[in-house]
Amino acid sequence: MDRFVPRAIPSTLADRVQRWRGWDDKGRPIPPENWPGRRALRGEVVMPGLEMLHTDDEGREWWMRVSAAPLRDDGGQLVGTCSVIQDITELKRAEQHLREADRRKDEFLATLAHELRNPLAPISHGLQILKRTVHGDDSARRSQEMLERQVNHMVRMVDDLLEVSRITTGKVQLRKEVVDLNNVLQGVAAASHAVMESGGHQLRLELPAETLLLPADPVRLAQMVTNLLNNAAKYTDPGGHVVLAAWAEGAQAVISVRDDGIGIPAALLDRIFDMFMQVDRGGRQGQGGLGIGLTLVRSLVEMHGGSVQALSEGPGQGSELRLRLPLPAHAPADASAHAPADVPSLPGPAAGAQSGDAPAFGRILVVDDNADAADTLSMLLGLLGAEVEIARDGPGALAMHDAFRPDVVLLDIGLPGMDGLEVARRIRARQGRDQVLLIALTGWGQEDDLRRSREAGMDHHLVKPVSFDTLERLLRSLRTSA
Ligand code: ADP
Repeated sequence: MDRFVPRAIPSTLADRVQRWRGWDDKGRPIPPENWPGRRALRGEVVMPGLEMLHTDDEGREWWMRVSAAPLRDDGGQLVGTCSVIQDITELKRAEQHLREADRRKDEFLATLAHELRNPLAPISHGLQILKRTVHGDDSARRSQEMLERQVNHMVRMVDDLLEVSRITTGKVQLRKEVVDLNNVLQGVAAASHAVMESGGHQLRLELPAETLLLPADPVRLAQMVTNLLNNAAKYTDPGGHVVLAAWAEGAQAVISVRDDGIGIPAALLDRIFDMFMQVDRGGRQGQGGLGIGLTLVRSLVEMHGGSVQALSEGPGQGSELRLRLPLPAHAPADASAHAPADVPSLPGPAAGAQSGDAPAFGRILVVDDNADAADTLSMLLGLLGAEVEIARDGPGALAMHDAFRPDVVLLDIGLPGMDGLEVARRIRARQGRDQVLLIALTGWGQEDDLRRSREAGMDHHLVKPVSFDTLERLLRSLRTSA
């Protein structure tokens, strides 16, 4: 104490006071009159105290936790304070290291997921090509199907990874609208058909008779419920029963996914929502997964102002996962519900159209520096009857654009030299080329990226790996609207 607070507490010497700094929980500096010792002198007990930073004579920084309480005499008269100053420098240093490590982990996961997406695009395109062109024997067909299943599984895991790192860095924004809960749940149940069937499970729907309208992001809502249904299928032995139910409970809508599967030990019911948390089932893991599905669900439901809870009687007794979402006090009467859409189109001007007499899908320019991705995509588009050219970098794209006069340009954004956004801007600046349709194809699909795409003049923004069905549907819808 002699080192930190020589000559009395609280120090009244200005140069001593200046060595101490404290901040409130919003990061605002706390003035000396509100430091713990002074507050105790006014009769307040300051426990568990404030974290304060002390700079010593050599300029070294020490973190202190300062608590204080008033001292009173027998008559209750305030006669002084008792301050406890605890050196927490080590603790703060460890905390900082942890935070730094955590940040690096998030960064690594984001990069990892992003980089893994790139090879996945050509692989899944290649598979689609094989499916459409190679008609081999039974075993060839079976291997194709197996490859497709496994690639889809990998795409899902990589998507989850990317998603979780976006959420932890606060980059996910909800696009809320008024949704009809039954509508969304029916859509999700239909989409889960394949998963349930491959596990030999029966899925039953128990939906409320009344229409429940609530403000939610329909895509995210579907994503949460899909996640729960996938888990129910995964953690239930073949031939199980899964029930997707919903009901109103007070001011909340409850969505429940119940199974008669392997259950969850009581001690872990809360912890399964933690990142990377998986129940140790003595080597019976083998279900494939990263332990982030429920972390995602919890983050998304909390962003909606709701909560998630796991219930289980224990191992072998099945599980139930419940989502709770706030219902509006007065459900709007004229609400229209939207089914989740997987083709995000960019609102704004220049929803470009193609020239009238284009053949099949017209002329398409594919721009991607990943040769495999460009080649497989152009082969696939060729199969659909489009005339396709490829460019591998920005300047090449511009030259090819001028020579080939495409109706549609599929533009990768991360290109060497000149990025796809700049290519888009320059194409837009060319005389009379405001009619060409520009579609961004990229690994990044955050709000910011979408906005930048739009500002650069893109009409659509698809996140890799784009399912070929999505692309085909988009091209078809554009052709019919042309
Ligand atoms: P993953 O399924 O990838 O392991 P999740 O975050 O989705 O990750 O789930 C975390 C853990 O919670 C799982 O590993 C599993 O042990 C447990 N779990 C989730 N859903 C169920 C369920 N319906 N029945 C039994 N256990 C479950």
